[in-house]
Amino acid sequence: GSLLVAEDLHKSFGPTTALDGASFSVHPGEVVAVMGPSGSGKSTLLHCLAGIVAPDAGSVRYDGRDLAGLGDDGRSALRRTDFGFVFQFGRLVPELTCVENVALPLRLGGARRKDAEKTAGEWLERLETADLARKRPGEISGGQGQRVAVARALVTSPRVLFADEPTGALDSLNGERVMELLTGAARERNTAVVLVTHEARVAAWSDREVVVRDGRSRDPEFAR
Ligand code: ADP
Ligand code: ADP
Repeated sequence: GSLLVAEDLHKSFGPTTALDGASFSVHPGEVVAVMGPSGSGKSTLLHCLAGIVAPDAGSVRYDGRDLAGLGDDGRSALRRTDFGFVFQFGRLVPELTCVENVALPLRLGGARRKDAEKTAGEWLERLETADLARKRPGEISGGQGQRVAVARALVTSPRVLFADEPTGALDSLNGERVMELLTGAARERNTAVVLVTHEARVAAWSDREVVVRDGRSRDPEFAR
């Protein structure tokens, strides 16, 4: 069955309607691209799915549980333990080295430094960035930074990876490399991926596409 399901979401910001009946679903291990032009509601859909934004109407169910019923603390806990995030710009902590950045989610979860950095090192290796472990984000390229950000997003072994335009700031060669490593690592772990992009070349890495237009989407796989 579906791991994460959104049904008929509506969301307005003041006079602006961002979502006007959006549905979506993703199965464990499936990579689904959320496509559509700028301003169509893709990011808002992702934020509703991740429990960051509350929809005005409609529901989001994760693993059989309604996100609305979890409360703020329940949703924060879920984001820490079950979800991983990659954004357009890596948002690595500039004061920390790459291995410290990747270890951070584990440290916040209570892991000892030594254990956290060992696991972080393995993930840097998986993303072909092991040589960057002791460098700070300001000393590496954008493509390298996004690979480190993917390692940080996956280090807790989330069941869902949310990626909002993860290659938006990269040239096509680096973008392809990030997508290859991201989807490869996710598929290996049976991690579901919600991939927001407006680029067909990026969506080509997904198993299927859900198109959002004027805040509306219909997911043909919905509820299966
Ligand atoms: P996309 O990701 O497809 O570019 P968004 O979900 O970011 O679309 O935005 C959909 C619409 O909602 C846009 O008109 C955008 O300006 C508006 N919007 C999104 N977030 C906010 C917000 N926090 N406050 C006001 N308007 C917003
Ligand atoms: P956009 O995708 O339109 O560029 P941003 O990515 O700047 O917008 O932020 C969108 C939303 O993501 C905001 O509501 C913000 O609170 C949330 N957000 C930003 N960083 C994180 C994070 N590390 N974890 C979870 N939510 C985040």
